[in-house]
Amino acid sequence: MSTLLVGIDADDTLWHSESHFAVTEKQFTDLVRPWIDDVEAKQLLLDQERMNLHVFGYGVKGFTLSMIETAIAVSEGQISLEAISEIVGWGKKMLQHPVELLPEVEDTLIQLTANYRLVLITKGDLFHQESKIAESGVAGLFERVEILTEKSPEQYAAILNRCHVGPDQFVMVGNSLRSDVLPVVELGGQGVHIPFELTWGHEKVDREGLTSKWHHLDKFGELPALLDQIAQTRSNSNEPLTGL
Ligand SMILES: [Mg+2]
Repeated sequence: MSTLLVGIDADDTLWHSESHFAVTEKQFTDLVRPWIDDVEAKQLLLDQERMNLHVFGYGVKGFTLSMIETAIAVSEGQISLEAISEIVGWGKKMLQHPVELLPEVEDTLIQLTANYRLVLITKGDLFHQESKIAESGVAGLFERVEILTEKSPEQYAAILNRCHVGPDQFVMVGNSLRSDVLPVVELGGQGVHIPFELTWGHEKVDREGLTSKWHHLDKFGELPALLDQIAQTRSNSNEPLTGL
């Protein structure tokens, strides 16, 4: 067993999430098209979500309330009660959507448990995240599950404390550079970026001027080989010098 602790993100790393938001966002732009074009509707909705993050936190419930607020604002109060209840219905549907694991996830996690301590690290709505984790069928492969309000260097540091490891023994894997990679690299750990085909506007990072270094993988199934390589490099550098 390696001494590396491997943190793994959940939404769009282990299972689909952003694709459900994209489907609902399309329904939303259709709904408000009498008042506003699609590009502007998406931008105003994102602005509203960002404004609401510190009140509602991340997740579907905040997204749903942001859609309602945006619809009321762009229609100048003309949006119907039927339309508002339709939006609420979309939110409920998203919250009750079955969990769909991404390709290679289950087999890869099983493989990783042989050599590494795994921690699932996600952020957002506690109730929804807990339901998805319970339904995913892979929760038992993790040593612990951490549901955060924000993936900041401080919150990652607190997890490392709870797991009794230093940042140099920590590798975090996820689809978001902003949440899964950069804060961990800042802390002195290593980040593995496995991009998903869709990225929420708020998670997008302007890469210009970034000096951080991280690993990039195209597929989740490539993770064991990379972690073995990281563990090997670490153990070589920790070996006592001989021949002195
Ligand atoms: Mg994610």
